[in-house]
Amino acid sequence: MSGARANPEPAGLPVLVEAEQIARCVGELAAAIAADYDTGEPLLIVAVLKGVVIFLADLVRRLPMPLEIDLVQARSYGGTERGDRVELLGDVAAMDLAGRHVLLLDCVLDSGHTLSVVRDALAVRGPASLKTCVLFSKDRAREYDLVPDYVGMTIPDVFVVGYGLDCADRWRHLPHVAWLPADAQEGTA
Ligand code: 5GP
Ligand code: MG
Repeated sequence: MSGARANPEPAGLPVLVEAEQIARCVGELAAAIAADYDTGEPLLIVAVLKGVVIFLADLVRRLPMPLEIDLVQARSYGGTERGDRVELLGDVAAMDLAGRHVLLLDCVLDSGHTLSVVRDALAVRGPASLKTCVLFSKDRAREYDLVPDYVGMTIPDVFVVGYGLDCADRWRHLPHVAWLPADAQEGTA
C-alpha cells in the first residue's frame, strides 16, 4: 500500500486546533498531572467513552507513574440540556474505588452534565481522591456544578469534531479538531 495520507478525510472543515497544538497541550497536562501525583501510589484513570479514546491514548503514554485505566460510557437522551437524562453504561457499581486516587477524564466539557453525573457516581464509591481532567473546555456558562481540576485549553462554544470527537460516529479519526458548521451536521444524525 502506498500514499498514506497524513490528514484523513480533510472534508474541507475549518481547522480549530492543529494537531501540533493538541500535542503540546497534552504534554503540558501530563506534566501538571505527573507533578501532582508524584507519591508513587498508582493512579486510576477513569475515562468517558467514546470521544476520549485518542486523548486517553496520548495522555497515558506521557505519564510516568504507575497507573490503571477503566472506562465508562455515558449516553445522554434528548441532547445535553439541563433536565435531560444521562445514563452510564459499563459496570460502575463493580468498580472498587475505595482508597484509590481517581482521575476522571473526558475530551470535551460542554454543559458539564455528563461529567457531573459520572463524577457523582464515582464519588460515592469512596475514592481517596477524585479529580477531573478535560482536554477542551467550551467557553460558555456551565449549567452544572463542575469545575475541572485540569483543563487543556478553552475553545469557542461551537460543535467540534476530530481527535476522537464525532458527529454520528464520523470524523473521530481527524488528527486535528475541526469546527462542524450546522449545515455540515445535516443528514449525519
Ligand atoms: P456536556 O454538555 O454533558 O458537558 O457534554 C456532553 C457530551 O457531549 C460530551 O461528553 C461529548 O461527548 C459531547 N459533546 C459536547 N460538545 C461536543 C462537541 O462540540 N463535539 C462533539 N463531537 N461532541 C460534543
Ligand atoms: Mg458523540
